[in-house]
Amino acid sequence: MTSHVRAWLAAFAVAVALVVGIACDLLLGAAAAERAEIAAVAPLAAAGAAFAIAIGVGLLVRSLIQRSLGELAAAMREVVRDTSRRVPPVPAPPDDALREVAEWVNFLAEDADKSHRALARERVLLATVAEGLTQGVIAVDGEHRIELLNDAARRMLDVTSTPVGEPLIEFVRVPQVFELIEGDEAATAEVQLASGARALIRVARKFGHEGRVLLLEDVTAMRRLETVRRDFVANVSHELRTPVAVIRANAETLLAGAKDDPAMAGKLIDGLHRNAERLARILADLLDLSRLDAGQYRLELGRVPVHAAAEQALSAVEPSAARRGVRVEVAAPAELAVAADPKALDQILVNLIDNAVKYTRPEGRVWVEARRDGDAVRVEVRDDGPGIADKHRERVFERFYRADPSRSREAGGTGLGLSIVKHLVESMNGAVGVEPNEPSGSIFWLRLPAAGSVTT
Ligand code: ADP
Repeated sequence: MTSHVRAWLAAFAVAVALVVGIACDLLLGAAAAERAEIAAVAPLAAAGAAFAIAIGVGLLVRSLIQRSLGELAAAMREVVRDTSRRVPPVPAPPDDALREVAEWVNFLAEDADKSHRALARERVLLATVAEGLTQGVIAVDGEHRIELLNDAARRMLDVTSTPVGEPLIEFVRVPQVFELIEGDEAATAEVQLASGARALIRVARKFGHEGRVLLLEDVTAMRRLETVRRDFVANVSHELRTPVAVIRANAETLLAGAKDDPAMAGKLIDGLHRNAERLARILADLLDLSRLDAGQYRLELGRVPVHAAAEQALSAVEPSAARRGVRVEVAAPAELAVAADPKALDQILVNLIDNAVKYTRPEGRVWVEARRDGDAVRVEVRDDGPGIADKHRERVFERFYRADPSRSREAGGTGLGLSIVKHLVESMNGAVGVEPNEPSGSIFWLRLPAAGSVTT
């Protein structure tokens, strides 16, 4: 009981004592004649007074306790609403029951507050980890509503909003995913998403809860690389098969007796030589590509005058140009220079001029021109041949892509030259492309940083 209640009770007792005292005094001072009547009603009056006092005291005590409990309940309500608040201290001795209740409520509130803070810290930690993952993470509840969707998952699903609480089906319309979620076991499947990405999805049960956690791994690039590698191996085998078959057939024919027929032997040996040369070219190009891919093709950028580089490349192509009667002209200001690796630039120009000579018409013409283009130098290799059809133009820089396969093979091409050119130009911070020439033929162009405009 609180001191508050005690004080009220003490005041009430004093009041009752006063009333009883005054009543006794009045009764004793009354006429003696009336004493006999008084004696008759006295026990009844005393009992009535005692009953009234008992009821009064009971009601008073009840109302005081109710008031204190009401105050405590109101304070507890506040604490439940906001666990950072506390029940005000009850001014009572340490063994007072209400005081003890208030202390326990504060202890529970402190505990709840700590748990809330720990939970909030864990949520932040979980969100940070989820956002930092390169894997997509999606958590759904028992009704397949999204509870968590990290950045990587948003990217894979092409989602810009934060759709927490929304049904997963609105963002992933792949039946396989829902079969995985419905299944009892942790399972994996590779699916194609609407965004075009290929994803490896692992589904795990949420510990002790309804719903699932989905882990998405973007395997698009990996699968594309696998396809490229498979195609590349198939293309290489295909390219090697023909010269190897010719070499083997010619050697077998020679061994079978043709070596004794001078005319026949000459032809067969010529075939052996041409195909061995072709094998060597393919292998040299493959080696260049693999060194470029592996970053082992060391480029040392320096100042290279364009006119001199074009003339040097032309001298390597001149014999084949002379054979086809093709005239090649070089026009470039003498002072024009690019920031490039001289060996790589030579390989690029030889490739482009050789192609122009190979694919233009017999007795055709080829122009090699260079001019300043802002911070860069633009070099063009132009021919007046049949040109390249629109559908092939975009793809001629791909490995083994040929616009005219039989013409390329007949001219001794490997189908790798332009892919090496592109790789080299881009490694020197440049760009390369092809456009149709007017009225006929092609313009292969490249842009390289002008010497002096780059720090090398
Ligand atoms: P290739 O060894 O076959 O010449 P490239 O990679 O150098 O391989 O060229 C790819 C294809 O681009 C060629 O097979 C050819 O069909 C086409 N091509 C390249 N240059 C020209 C050109 N100047 N005119 C017409 N077609 C060309």
